[in-house]
Amino acid sequence: MIFYKTKDEIELLRLSNQLVAKTHATIAPLIKPGIKTIALDKIAEEFIRDNGGVPGFLNFNGFPNSLCVSVNDSVVHGVPGNYELKDGDIVSVDCGVLMNGFYGDSAYTFPVGEVSDEVKKLLRVTMEALYLGLDQAQKGKRIGDISYAIQHYAESQGYSVVRELVGHGVGRDLHEKPEVPNYGKRGWGPKIKEGLVIAIEPMINMGKKEVVQDDDGWTIRTRDGLPSAHFEHSIAIHNGGVDILSDFNIIEEALNKK
Ligand code: MG
Ligand code: MG
Repeated sequence: MIFYKTKDEIELLRLSNQLVAKTHATIAPLIKPGIKTIALDKIAEEFIRDNGGVPGFLNFNGFPNSLCVSVNDSVVHGVPGNYELKDGDIVSVDCGVLMNGFYGDSAYTFPVGEVSDEVKKLLRVTMEALYLGLDQAQKGKRIGDISYAIQHYAESQGYSVVRELVGHGVGRDLHEKPEVPNYGKRGWGPKIKEGLVIAIEPMINMGKKEVVQDDDGWTIRTRDGLPSAHFEHSIAIHNGGVDILSDFNIIEEALNKK
């Protein structure tokens, strides 16, 4: 069943998502050639704990770290390690926080140094797909309207949409009902109602849609080895509109200062 949230619960979800955004903003200036992905993870974990949260992904279904750090052809669920970021990489940093009993969940894909125009376009289109999906998150519409908007736009730009992983409801659990696929049909799926809180998270591949899992049991990669991008906002439906609980602005301000 779908757990619709009260106004007070939405405010708690906002706090958790703001801590996620601040965590992203803390590591954003450090995302440069030469840094190990495990170093970003350690800084994020410390920052989350120092600010009264608990890393939401650490030990979730046995995940070993606080961030999912997914580089280039890695789509999501990348495990931080000794890999050193290099010029031209892209890195999706997915972060979760549990605070006051509620989860925050948001992801941002960062360019490392100078990336190719081709890759810049992938990042831009993936973020635009997220916002086009978000535009459909209106009372009376259905989840499928979000899904369709994302798929239609991504495919119109020559990209493909990962099928195996989807957005989701978020609240006292990290993954609640409903599922929010990044592909689908208009007018299908659950109706969007007051109090719905969902994470919308397009995972868009430059090449084909198929993915494979690494032997580590976590990392999901594109089968064709081409890059993939991932942006995720957690949002609430209330006060007659969409309320973005996560925040990319503070991430981008931190990047601009870098
Ligand atoms: Mg996430
Ligand atoms: Mg998520």
